[in-house]
Amino acid sequence: MSDADLLNTVARWIDEAQRVVALTGAGISTDSGIPDFRGPQGVWTRNPAAEKLSTIQNYLADPEVRRAAWRGRLEHTAWTAKPNRGHEALVRLERRGKLHALITQNVDELHQIAGTDRDRVIEVHGTIRRVMCWRCGARSPMERTLARVRAGEDDPACLSCGGILKSDTISFGQALVPEVIDRAMQVAGEADLLLAIGSTLQVYPVAGAVPLASRAGARVVIVNAEPTAMDDVADALLRGSIGEILPAICG
Ligand code: NAD
Repeated sequence: MSDADLLNTVARWIDEAQRVVALTGAGISTDSGIPDFRGPQGVWTRNPAAEKLSTIQNYLADPEVRRAAWRGRLEHTAWTAKPNRGHEALVRLERRGKLHALITQNVDELHQIAGTDRDRVIEVHGTIRRVMCWRCGARSPMERTLARVRAGEDDPACLSCGGILKSDTISFGQALVPEVIDRAMQVAGEADLLLAIGSTLQVYPVAGAVPLASRAGARVVIVNAEPTAMDDVADALLRGSIGEILPAICG
């Protein structure tokens, strides 16, 4: 089948579908200027040591790791990033009444900023736009704590209990939130078409949503520039630019 025929076939599958579940990874946000981790220009591909620094154990044990993390948060590309054609295509899918849920591994909230209904977005790795206290669990907007960092606090403590603050994301070594994962798996089982976009699909349990949806009878479409760990489960593999492919298939 030619590339154009394959795109037309998937567009028809989406026309026929009633409960599309999208599963997005870092690849959908690279066109917005936020680098992924494992792609050719990924943060960890370029600097393998960065992966080790991002474990929760190092963060809690070492104030220097936390100071570096806060400096990094101040300069994060997400604060100025804008949604791109990929995010916008998924908003159109929702307006057509087809988007059942959107599971995302991303922590940038660009889906919600693009206009996807917050209630449909399942953030399995949390969000960098919020801060959480490791001791008391209090949560607050990231911007408030960044203002303290800008004012000179290089490792700001929780204002309620003095505990260590971190972004409200799932760090390496940190447990996922069971209710969030359960919800992701439930919607994957309800899908009639699962659209996996911009993820290497090697991080479990989230990647398990792909074979789960397939076993439950959904068509599986993978959109990614490179091979993924789930290519053998896919009914269609769309290899190329997300910003070009999603507008072509989502209508
Ligand atoms: P990943 O880095 O493992 O893989 C991204 C994949 O997307 C790669 O295979 C890459 O080739 C592909 N890709 C990148 N840009 C593309 C484009 N424009 N068109 C087509 N394909 C493209 O991503 P992951 O599987 O989501 O895992 C990384 C983890 O790190 C996530 O779980 C997430 O929590 C976190 N993360 C989040 C962000 C974000 O919020 N934007 C950014 C980096 C990492």
